[in-house]
Formats: sequence, structure tokens, C-alpha cells
Amino acid sequence: MIQGSCHCGAVRFDYQRTAETAASCNCSICRRLGATWIYANADQITFHMAEGATHRYLRGEENIGFHSCTTCGCPTHWENMAEPETGPMAVNLNLCDPEEAAKVPVRRFDGADSWSFID
Ligand SMILES: [Zn+2]
Repeated sequence: MIQGSCHCGAVRFDYQRTAETAASCNCSICRRLGATWIYANADQITFHMAEGATHRYLRGEENIGFHSCTTCGCPTHWENMAEPETGPMAVNLNLCDPEEAAKVPVRRFDGADSWSFID
């Protein structure tokens, strides 16, 4: 398990699996957010936060909701709007303890074009 927290602490999460790889994605939203994503299914991630602690941004097609803390602005996670309970989800590895995060290899994901890893 790896735990994460936004800067102000309003949003915390437990990522309940071993993160074997993380993705730095170059798509139009991820490159702007600057997040490093570790993936799981939604039921493998537990959030500790109050109602309304995050702001959700729906990108163009509205199938993925990108969340950031309403207080400190840190990008926290994204969710699949069609399957928010069990579908694919990712949390931002940059919010985790740096020593733990350093153990996870980061790969470059070409979400802008080929939809595959490019390293
Ligand atoms: Zn915060």
C-alpha cells in the first residue's frame, strides 16, 4: 500500500496495491496538470476526504473526471465517470511520500497520440 495527501491534507488516499509502474502522460490535460499517475481499479483506492473537498473537471468527452483539491489545488486523482465505483482510476504519485514514490519507476505514456508507452 502507498498513501498520499494533497499539500493541505484535505484529501488523503490509500492506494491498496503495489505500484509497479507510474505514468507521466503527455495528453492535453495530463501535461498541464503535471501529475504522475499510478493506476488501479476504483475499489482498490480508499479516499479520506470531506464532501466537496475536490473540484472535478470533466474534459471534452466527459468520460474522465479530473479531481484537484479545492483548498490547495493539487491534482489528486481521475475517475472513469461511467464506472466510478469499480472502473479504472488513478491517483497522483506526486502526493505520496517521496521515499516511497522514488521506488516506483515512472514511464512516459503517449496519451496525446499513440496511446502507448514510449520509453
Ligand atoms: Zn489540499
